[in-house]
Amino acid sequence: MSKEELECSFCGRKKPETNLLIAGLDAHICDRCIEQAHGIVLEESKQSDNSELSAELMLRKPQQIKAFLDEYIIGQEYTKKIMSVAVYNHYKRLLQPPSEDSIEIQKSNIVMVGQTGTGKTLMAKTVARMLNVPLAIVDATVLTEAGYVGEDVESILTRLLQAADYNLEKAEKGIVFIDEIDKIARKSDNPSITRDVSGEGVQQALLKLLEGTTVNVPPKGGRKHPDQKFIEVNTENILFIAGGAFDGIERIISKRLNMQAVGYSASKADEVVDNDNLLQYIIPKDLKDFGLIPEIIGRLPVLTHMNPLDANTLRAILTEPKNAIIKQYKKLFAMDDIEFAITDGALEFIVDKAIEYKLGARGLRSLCEAILTDAMFEMPSSDEKKLNVTKAYAQDKLTKTTLKKLKAVS
Ligand code: ADP
Repeated sequence: MSKEELECSFCGRKKPETNLLIAGLDAHICDRCIEQAHGIVLEESKQSDNSELSAELMLRKPQQIKAFLDEYIIGQEYTKKIMSVAVYNHYKRLLQPPSEDSIEIQKSNIVMVGQTGTGKTLMAKTVARMLNVPLAIVDATVLTEAGYVGEDVESILTRLLQAADYNLEKAEKGIVFIDEIDKIARKSDNPSITRDVSGEGVQQALLKLLEGTTVNVPPKGGRKHPDQKFIEVNTENILFIAGGAFDGIERIISKRLNMQAVGYSASKADEVVDNDNLLQYIIPKDLKDFGLIPEIIGRLPVLTHMNPLDANTLRAILTEPKNAIIKQYKKLFAMDDIEFAITDGALEFIVDKAIEYKLGARGLRSLCEAILTDAMFEMPSSDEKKLNVTKAYAQDKLTKTTLKKLKAVS
């Protein structure tokens, strides 16, 4: 057969009528058919993505969600339970076909209160991983009211679109984690003379987003620009999780508890208050007294707290989660055929130092890194195939100077 006679086996076009004709074993395909087929593949994968989302969500009941969280997050039982129910309800609402009756299930946006490093971000990440939905992590401190220096509130949705590879449908079912929500608390009780553009102004701008609205989002971020094309994003089904340390909120809680104790019956006053963990008594009013406006609190109806991490928890974080730090090092060493072991004494030592230098859970990784860097540098090119980290070994590697450095960066 001459070159001119060759034709596309799909549409029958002759070679001269095509830009490109690719040969297979017994067939040919032209550029147009390739493009069409590519379109079909994309469309199909989009549909199967969505059904994957619903199938997975249908499968997991709150207890199963919690079991998944248990694999990655140590302790924080209360928050894991609250989170499982909130997430379940949120996605149940989302998967329901529109109903005839007028009962509208409201969004279950969540606010988590807890010191930094107690696992708030981890919680949001794990939920997103389980659901296989896109997650955007944003810092509330960079947000300002539109028109001021800083990022517009819409930039949150730009991030979500990016996390979803610009698949709008996926983004609209995603999760946004707003970190440091406490930093946009009203700066003072007085409606001040100067506008509070990074505090109350941002809270006002966030309201609509949290509740569910359609927003014109600049796909590449940055300031809104008249020439820029927008993507319309509906936030109706986006789950918002806010987190913050709310430094000093314990005082507000304690004051309220004392007032209650005075005002109520003796039996209430007799209830023992755990002063080491006052966050467990938090109620929405405390957030209001801290400086969040009531409308924002209303749109974050699920309130939960994170417990401070004690030595036992830190110890467990090192070894127990599915991708625990120690498990990661084991794997790294194993790639060089090195058998890595660490004694209980060494683990306790690491935990003690994390507490002594107030490094929290985040510091565990840097401590391990400091202890193991020498070994990771030297061993791959040596014949030594075993590393046993004892307390003495850890003490030797972790000098005071290293610890001071770790403290300085934490
Ligand atoms: P936050 O958002 O509250 O500041 P993160 O979620 O960023 O805290 O946690 C910091 C690090 O500490 C994470 O990398 C995580 O691995 C670890 N971590 C904190 N709390 C826990 C926990 N309860 N279980 C497992 N790991 C934790």
